[in-house]
Amino acid sequence: MSYELVRNIPKDHPRYESLMIREKLVNGFKAGIVCAEGLIAHGRGEAFDYLIGEKTIEPAIVATKAAVAMMLTAKHPVISVNGNTAALVPDELGCLSERIGAPLEVNLFHRTEDRVDKIIHHLKAHGAKDVLGKRADAHIPGISHERGKVSKEGIYSADVVFVPLEDGDRCEALGNMGKKTIAIDLNPLSRTAQAASVTIVDNVVRAIPNMTKLVDETKVLPGSELKRICTSYDNKAMLEEVIRRIKMI
Ligand code: ATP
Repeated sequence: MSYELVRNIPKDHPRYESLMIREKLVNGFKAGIVCAEGLIAHGRGEAFDYLIGEKTIEPAIVATKAAVAMMLTAKHPVISVNGNTAALVPDELGCLSERIGAPLEVNLFHRTEDRVDKIIHHLKAHGAKDVLGKRADAHIPGISHERGKVSKEGIYSADVVFVPLEDGDRCEALGNMGKKTIAIDLNPLSRTAQAASVTIVDNVVRAIPNMTKLVDETKVLPGSELKRICTSYDNKAMLEEVIRRIKMI
């Protein structure tokens, strides 16, 4: 099932981009892809987006480069998808998945089988080839909620998990399993942002296309350079820099 934007927002509206994002989420909600709680979570994201100027800031570019290098050097990278991400960037997720060679896996905090089916269908309608998550035949130790349910061949066996819009608990639990995690989170203070190996403090609508754009130029770098980008990256320092910039406003 795919869905169309129902309201026509004039392009010259000063908050056009932001209103279009809301529109996509509301339509995703009506289509059963986004849950009501997802709309509230977006509100927190919007507030932080305001604070960083609703643009990709320099520390996010550094983190994006590290994220792409980490995914390209991984043995088995997997991209975890929730309802908000599926509603906001369905084409871009399929594109990144293909370019990086990492499968998509639907993973939901408010999981229902119907919503999983709808999201898989939506992603495929937007070009994704293979989407995992229907068969949740493994469990992340220490996570009692629904996000602990994962696919054995996907997130469970991944060495790098890309978790845009994650919840902090699972990000920490994935780390405890020895996996590297890459998060996108506009809130640099969230548990997710603090727990991930790499945190891109940016809006998913900008960060995922930025990652895709970087794949080709990063792919051609020698393995030693990719390794250097990963090992020299300091997530704590990057988050401190974002917080410093926010305080300066
Ligand atoms: P945590 O467990 O990490 O502390 P949380 O409880 O603060 O998370 P959630 O409700 O799990 O937050 O999810 C909302 C998070 O997603 C917020 O931190 C918000 O900043 C972020 N967020 C929401 N929309 C976007 C977006 N479009 N792009 C990037 N981040 C977003």
